[in-house]
Amino acid sequence: MNRQIAGVRGVAALLPADCARWAAVEDRLRALMEAYGFREIRLPIIERTELYGRAVGEVTDIVEKEMYTFLDRNGDSLSLRPEGTAGCVRAGIEAGLFHNQTQRLWYQGAMFRHERPQKGRYRQFHQWGVEVYGMAGAAIEAELIALGARILRELGVKARLLVNSLGTPACRERYRDALVEHLVAHRDRLDEDSVRRLERNPLRVLDSKNPAMKDVLDAAPMIADHWSAESREHFASLKDHLSALGVAFEVAPRLVRGLDYYTHTVFEWAADETLAQATIAAGGRYDGLVAELGGAATTAVGFAIGMERLMGLVTRLPQAAGLDVYVMTPAALQGRALGLAEALRDRGVRVETHLAAASPKSQGKRARESGARCIVEAVDEEGVAILGTGAIESGTVSWAQAAARISEILGAEAKIHDQ
Ligand code: ATP
Ligand code: MG
Repeated sequence: MNRQIAGVRGVAALLPADCARWAAVEDRLRALMEAYGFREIRLPIIERTELYGRAVGEVTDIVEKEMYTFLDRNGDSLSLRPEGTAGCVRAGIEAGLFHNQTQRLWYQGAMFRHERPQKGRYRQFHQWGVEVYGMAGAAIEAELIALGARILRELGVKARLLVNSLGTPACRERYRDALVEHLVAHRDRLDEDSVRRLERNPLRVLDSKNPAMKDVLDAAPMIADHWSAESREHFASLKDHLSALGVAFEVAPRLVRGLDYYTHTVFEWAADETLAQATIAAGGRYDGLVAELGGAATTAVGFAIGMERLMGLVTRLPQAAGLDVYVMTPAALQGRALGLAEALRDRGVRVETHLAAASPKSQGKRARESGARCIVEAVDEEGVAILGTGAIESGTVSWAQAAARISEILGAEAKIHDQ
């Protein structure tokens, strides 16, 4: 036998059992996107590397040490996308999507970051993101947060919603000075990354997960003390909207998204603290980014869900469509079974056929495992046996009548379930 080739570390295939769960959740997410007026955008997996330097920020974990960057055959530096917002803005500017119009967009797909793989942290992972352009107020932020809360609620995921505000760019400037003063005073307690960030992106220091720095960060000044009247009003309005919608939240005074273009609201959902990777979804308002990437100034707000972390916490799975009929057949009747399956599919019935030589016993086992609502067995040239499951009664039927009779029975059963 040839030597096996191992997969890439931190990069996993989703096996059929996982895919069924993912697809059930994704179907529901798609329906919710429609229910909130969002339209899908499919973004490229590779972008020019400079996009992320500019959009995510040079002085961030992502750009400094997590990107998969390579030169293509023309010598252009490209990167696998580490997140979706930058590409969404880039594509939207290029296509003129932000000219005098509002946009509600969603995307999903694989993202790539060269991190240390562990539970909830992978090198290829998936995000489901929503972005809104051209809406400046707190109302849209509240609607986005209500959407996120609805997703978690429906899937039975327990998480705390944390919100904060970075205020206007001017508020952040003032805060930045106060923060740097505090951090410089405790310079000896900061790790190497933080010392470097101190100069170029001090807000990011607050994102540090280094336990040795916790005391210093807990004692850091709070941005709320630097809000302008406008910032205070915006945040108060967000809180009012959330309360009116019945969305529970906690104000997290030191929650920041340390990127320069973030303004006003930032938020995240955190699962049980005991989990190492507790943040399921995160987002905020980023009014500065479209202009930063060369577009006309456009307000923007969005969030992204980490799908692996979400799927790890789902306790209530949306009802997936599932299989209607499983057809067992001896080898000699495979042709007829195939014909029956196609006739059923013509009627919209979902069918799997057992087309490998196998004993009735092992076919029966596979049929029961398939979760099909009805199991059908090709008996002989005369016809098929309907082996009832659930509310479906057993019986036999001729080949000529099989497709019509089985779909009729399934229709009757569907009615029973609908009520
Ligand atoms: P973390 O602090 O956990 O590193 P982050 O701030 O880097 O997260 P974002 O860039 O805000 O994460 O991405 C949004 C979401 O994507 C995260 O809340 C998380 O659920 C998910 N995510 C980020 N990185 C990974 C990863 N390497 N593996 C799995 N999920 C991830
Ligand atoms: Mg990270």
